[in-house]
Amino acid sequence: MSNLEQTLSIIKPDAVERNLQDEIKKKFVENGFSIKDEKKIQISKNEAEEFYKVHQSKPFYGELCNYLSSGPIVVMILEKENAVIENRKLMGATDPSKAENGTLRKMYGISIDKNSVHGSDSLDNAKIEIEFFFKN
Ligand code: UDP
Ligand code: MG
Repeated sequence: MSNLEQTLSIIKPDAVERNLQDEIKKKFVENGFSIKDEKKIQISKNEAEEFYKVHQSKPFYGELCNYLSSGPIVVMILEKENAVIENRKLMGATDPSKAENGTLRKMYGISIDKNSVHGSDSLDNAKIEIEFFFKN
């Protein structure tokens, strides 16, 4: 049965800074995702705080929001069967040193904070996150 989904992906500042966006986009396409929309932007600290508000109470929240707003990012709507879980699998564990071989975070991530990519963690959050970046 078909279960076509859309999810939000972000190529984070550490990867854009190293000019890895084309290589990472190629990995998504090779893994069966279509990129339905994309844009390169830089967000403000306030926008990062809004985007990551679920992590408000975490000790790393301030740094996380500084980091996501520190430089250009590429935000994308990815579409595939079971896109949410498939993207999480392709990304690998949050900490690149714990991510499996072949995952984006293993290949490109520098550290737990500079882990190169974001991906929505549920279909509900995918909808909220896509709306956040692509509401025109
Ligand atoms: N993060 C961090 N330190 C931590 C845990 C998370 O800097 O101890 C950052 C990391 O960049 C991660 C983001 O916060 O990607 C969001 O955390 P989450 O647990 O949602 O991980 P993800 O869904 O990105 O794998
Ligand atoms: Mg998350």
